[in-house]
Amino acid sequence: MKYKNKKLTIEKINFQNLAIRFGTPAYCYSHSKLEENINNFKENFKSFSPLICFSVKSNTNLNIIREIKKFGLGADVVSKGELMMALKAGISPNKIVFSGVGKTNDEIKFAIEKKILLINAESKSEIQVINKIAKRKKKIVQIGIRLNPNTDAKTLKQISTGKSENKFGVNSKTFHELVNYCKNSKNIKLQCLSVHIGSQILDHKPYERMLKAISNIISKTKYKFEFVDLGGGMGISYSNKIKKLNYKKYNSAIKNFLKKHNTKIIFEPGRSIIGNTGTLLSKIIYIKDGGIKKFIILDAAMNDLMRPALYGAVHKILPINKSNIISRDIYEFVGPICESTDKFVTLKKFQKLKEKDFVAICDVGAYGTSLSSNYNLRPKPIELLIKGRKIKIIKNRQKHKDLI
Ligand SMILES: *Cc1c(COP(=O)(O)O)cnc(C)c1O
Repeated sequence: MKYKNKKLTIEKINFQNLAIRFGTPAYCYSHSKLEENINNFKENFKSFSPLICFSVKSNTNLNIIREIKKFGLGADVVSKGELMMALKAGISPNKIVFSGVGKTNDEIKFAIEKKILLINAESKSEIQVINKIAKRKKKIVQIGIRLNPNTDAKTLKQISTGKSENKFGVNSKTFHELVNYCKNSKNIKLQCLSVHIGSQILDHKPYERMLKAISNIISKTKYKFEFVDLGGGMGISYSNKIKKLNYKKYNSAIKNFLKKHNTKIIFEPGRSIIGNTGTLLSKIIYIKDGGIKKFIILDAAMNDLMRPALYGAVHKILPINKSNIISRDIYEFVGPICESTDKFVTLKKFQKLKEKDFVAICDVGAYGTSLSSNYNLRPKPIELLIKGRKIKIIKNRQKHKDLI
């Protein structure tokens, strides 16, 4: 995204035109940014050519997953619905891994029938269910066990997953027991140790500690894992102040790990692939003077973009038409929903805005639409994929008649 003659553009199109033609709120994705992210990700880890499984929960749009598939990525899914979507996008089952603490019998059965690469189990009970279903189907199913390495990811507590207080994975003691348990389960083949310590991680040190924990446990179990699945979690820069994750250091920590353990690496990135490709385009309905601040009431709301309300996440907001006139007021950007948490950000300094102006909420490609809802019975926004001068509607705006 760039300003050209004071107009904010995505690829070769300006947002003003998109807003007028397609209405607001609208999710707009940049294809070239997606391509750049995937190429960078591959480049960062090219010495050991990992299997990169896109975390579908970060963006479940069929067309987006299709584009990602074209770059050769697999998928990490956490429900039957996501597995069906990944398959529909054409991703080969042998590039799909299935994570999650609560897979139902039906989900496990479906995953086995589709012959996916790995079911990453998160408890003994789940392993028992997989074995039982596999036995009934006379199959041998490849599984992983998710380790909870008790590593603090140093990120928002709501999106940390690798500490013992979190529900995910099993502790090292249970992990040992389960490795032995799998040896005696005839219909499963233990192939993978998996971890995922959290999301929006910007410091490489938690990853180093995680690798150390994995290394110790593999040495102790003396089990040959075909795969080590390191999960995702690589953070992105939501503001100019945030320092980026040091991929070089993460990469060299993995290379050191691989000197000791001969295994294939899997990644499950979501946000780092799709996060900064998406923008939520919105129109100012009203500006209301609240005395100490002005409420900029947008037509986008927490049902369209949940992250601020859910995690206190902050997204940058940009005017679509840039001016040099700075407002003296404090602006609070809010949505129309009947909840006080329906607000995006409060800013002390911004250019002067008026009603009917358009603004862009940045970096919403990950956990934007996938977390959206119809709360307040609001139809979901249109989604557009922009490639150069080309615009493709990748999801139609929901209509009230779809809801009522
Ligand atoms: C959510 C999730 C991911 C993706 O996390 P990002 O922070 O988007 O990279 C990967 N693996 C598992 C198991 C997850 O639950």
